[in-house]
Amino acid sequence: MKKFLTPDAYVNSFYDITPEMLKNKGISGLILDVDNTLVATHIKEADEKVISFIRSLKEHGIKAIIVSNGGKRRVELFCEPLDIDYIYKAHKPLGSGFKKAIEKMGLTNKEVAILGDQLFTDVLGGNLQGIYTILIKPIDLNEPFLIKIKRVFEKPFLKNKKFINKL
Ligand SMILES: [Mg+2]
Repeated sequence: MKKFLTPDAYVNSFYDITPEMLKNKGISGLILDVDNTLVATHIKEADEKVISFIRSLKEHGIKAIIVSNGGKRRVELFCEPLDIDYIYKAHKPLGSGFKKAIEKMGLTNKEVAILGDQLFTDVLGGNLQGIYTILIKPIDLNEPFLIKIKRVFEKPFLKNKKFINKL
């Protein structure tokens, strides 16, 4: 179980990830979580930083897709300014959302990474699919109650782990 809960990389924020870093790892497609990965959970719309991050991925030939466990409205509204494909109610860590996303990008699992803030959804789900997993520090720890509980269980797995800006 432990290996499925261990990400391949730990980063502080998405600002630290460059297209070159992804390319050096052989990654051509990035699956992105929304809540607490790209914006805080209470922020409804993608901000300038998110927009330019997605733009720079595209400009460098990295495909990007949103895969969120959030509902239709939340995800649609967020993605509106991004011109990006998305899957809502993805039920991560289950495989169907990941599989759909990889298929939509037209890539193989080996060419894909996920960037997300939760061990039990993003990292576990990504590892089960054999894709490269990048755990990001959650943007805002003022989270819904159920997620707060999950964070308690994440703690032992994150002990002594360093979040650095390297893949
Ligand atoms: Mg999240």
